[in-house]
Amino acid sequence: MPPSVVIIGSGVTGLSVALALSKAYKVTIVARDHVGDNHSRKWASPWAGAGCLPWINMSDDDVDIQKSSFRYFWKLSQSDPESSIRRIKNVAFWEKGPVDGGKPWFEDFMVNCRQLPASDLPDGITMGYEFETLVMNPQVYLEWLRGQLHASGNVKFVRRELRHISEVLEYAPKDCQENLVVVNATGCGAKYLGGVEDATVQEARGQTMLVRSPLTTVYVRTGEEYSYAIPRGDGTVVLGGISQLNNTDTTVDPALKHEILRRVNRLVPPGTYPTEVEDLDLVEDITGIRPGRKGGLRVEKEVLPIKVGDSGHEIRLKVVHAYGMGGGGYKYSAGVGLRVAELVNGFLYGSGEDKMAE
Ligand SMILES: Cc1cc2nc3c(=O)[nH]c(=O)nc-3n(C[C@H](O)[C@H](O)[C@H](O)COP(=O)(O)OP(=O)(O)OC[C@H]3O[C@@H](n4cnc5c(N)ncnc54)[C@H](O)[C@@H]3O)c2cc1C
Repeated sequence: MPPSVVIIGSGVTGLSVALALSKAYKVTIVARDHVGDNHSRKWASPWAGAGCLPWINMSDDDVDIQKSSFRYFWKLSQSDPESSIRRIKNVAFWEKGPVDGGKPWFEDFMVNCRQLPASDLPDGITMGYEFETLVMNPQVYLEWLRGQLHASGNVKFVRRELRHISEVLEYAPKDCQENLVVVNATGCGAKYLGGVEDATVQEARGQTMLVRSPLTTVYVRTGEEYSYAIPRGDGTVVLGGISQLNNTDTTVDPALKHEILRRVNRLVPPGTYPTEVEDLDLVEDITGIRPGRKGGLRVEKEVLPIKVGDSGHEIRLKVVHAYGMGGGGYKYSAGVGLRVAELVNGFLYGSGEDKMAE
């Protein structure tokens, strides 16, 4: 029996992992929310911006994943424009630069990257760059991913909410459970799923406004006055910058709409947007919960001892965790998919590192 993989979670992380695995494995995706569930606020993926901003002050491993995603999306924007991925100019401001005082990692990586002179920086900004980045329309990209997975013929979708991670054993033949690998791509669900229950998962509420607007450059400010304007390349732009830790209320807060517009008007060229919210050409208000984690994303292997049935028989469940993406799940997704595929291969066939240790 060939090894099988069950992915828990059908957000951008779970689907990207499935895409990276679907050429070599039979994959089952088990999830409460699936592509097209555009009424549910229980998952994050439909509600993203979604732009790819390079984040600074991250670990080397995190930066490797960001780079690998950027490379993948850069090519995809040319080979598969129907995925919605577009190349676009980005003007990015940081209130504080890298903590080590050095130059940011992306300076030698992002295409057409140029540091902005101090005279061009708005008040309160110590570092500014412009470069080419990538944006996508989340709901179109999720549909595109699902289409690729259907076309592969190797991926099955199951709708179900699991209470405990051991329930995935139902999706592996009884004589083959030791050969099963489970990928935990549950986003905020990693805080609640039995057998995982990661108390370091942090939910952070976001609120944005999708407006019709001719803006064609991404503007982002990172820091206390977090704010952004992300054009999607279809005549609409996402205005945002709200991140409220440990708040899971998904109703629209009207007061925050004024705050978003105030911040955005300090960020984009004067005259781009009106000063009153009522004068915006609003498509919709969006809220969603970013699935973050203290210490950043978790992409690693773990073997979980699981008792099976009443006999007391214990199996060692092979798990690869892929959650904690916070406000960067799209930006990380392709790189996370490739990294998880390496970990799954290592689990099943042994990595070079494992062999040296034997
Ligand atoms: C307002 C806002 C703006 C954002 N902007 C950006 C941006 O510009 N760029 C960017 O890169 N990112 C952005 N993000 C972040 C991005 O949306 C998330 O990081 C990303 O969607 C996380 O994807 P995920 O697949 O890890 O989690 P999710 O999308 O939350 O998916 C989790 C999956 O696990 C399933 N699940 C959970 N628990 C269980 C269970 N017990 N049993 C079965 N299934 C379960 C869910 O049903 C779902 O299918 C933004 C987010 C918000 C809210």
